[in-house]
Amino acid sequence: MTKRDLAAGILCYSGMGLLQCRLERIFSRNHKIIIPAYHRIAEHNAEADYLDPELISATPEQFENQVKYLAKNYEVITFAQLSEVLEGKRELKRTPVIITLDDGYKDNFDIAWPILKKYGVPATIFITWDYIGQQKLFWWDYIYYLVQNTKVKNLKLAESGTLAIATNQEKSEAKNKIIALLKEVKNQHRIKILNKISEILNVPEPSDFRATLNWNEIHQMAEYGIEFGGHTLSHPILTELTDEDLQREIGKSKELLEGALKTEPVSFCYPVGQGHAVDRRIVAAVRQAGFKFATTACHGVNNLPSCDFLSLYRLRVSPQDNQIVFQERIHFPQVITY
Ligand SMILES: [Zn+2]
Repeated sequence: MTKRDLAAGILCYSGMGLLQCRLERIFSRNHKIIIPAYHRIAEHNAEADYLDPELISATPEQFENQVKYLAKNYEVITFAQLSEVLEGKRELKRTPVIITLDDGYKDNFDIAWPILKKYGVPATIFITWDYIGQQKLFWWDYIYYLVQNTKVKNLKLAESGTLAIATNQEKSEAKNKIIALLKEVKNQHRIKILNKISEILNVPEPSDFRATLNWNEIHQMAEYGIEFGGHTLSHPILTELTDEDLQREIGKSKELLEGALKTEPVSFCYPVGQGHAVDRRIVAAVRQAGFKFATTACHGVNNLPSCDFLSLYRLRVSPQDNQIVFQERIHFPQVITY
């Protein structure tokens, strides 16, 4: 018996080792989980003037080519199906891929779903409870809407100095600066700055629009096999919340989703998903709420059996990537970064 065999034997004998050995058997040929991360699927030139085009991950044509490629070369599954694999109730024939879409935009139903159906594959959509079926913009889209539609030429804020917003180029640069700034500040401070910007830019509130999925759309997709995961109630930076608010944003959103979908959601997606937005307290709260899987915004694939199922890496999809780059990134994520 070699030292390595002996070490493996000892590992198998321990509690962690048993799980690890079982995972090693299951994933011996499919030893990684690839999780592409999308937000919106839409044409750039058909952009509504209230949604930030930077959230578009792929055009319909790009998404179709990507889904076609994944369906042909990988085993596209959901987190619930991954759970069955881990419990030994399901076998994988090829390397698993889980297609994820964050936030729950309406184009996931209008554009992404028909493509997913065409190629017979599922996806997981992380929905933000307070926005379902509402005429309500996420704060980053609201900034885009205000900057895009204002007649004001300069925006002066204590936090950023004066930003020129006369031309399209200036509007785009200013919007990106404000969004970067607002990702860094406390939730309460963000609301104050948003109110201040809204007051200065003086644009009527948008009306007669719906940017996010409604229940009718969610139920239709769920019936087909699209999986829905938690993405909090209001999309806050979780690390800034008190324990009580944290429990509400994570636990309550799971409970509400379970009640509405009549099935237990097994996956969660951390808002913003990296850096200061996730820490051990947040991961512990997600575990305590009963989620089995949670995705970050950190780049990478998940190598089994060593990966942390509550801090899963993903591969961000960008409309700047052509099909070759997309495929290479799926194959060689360590090499093809951003
Ligand atoms: Zn999000």
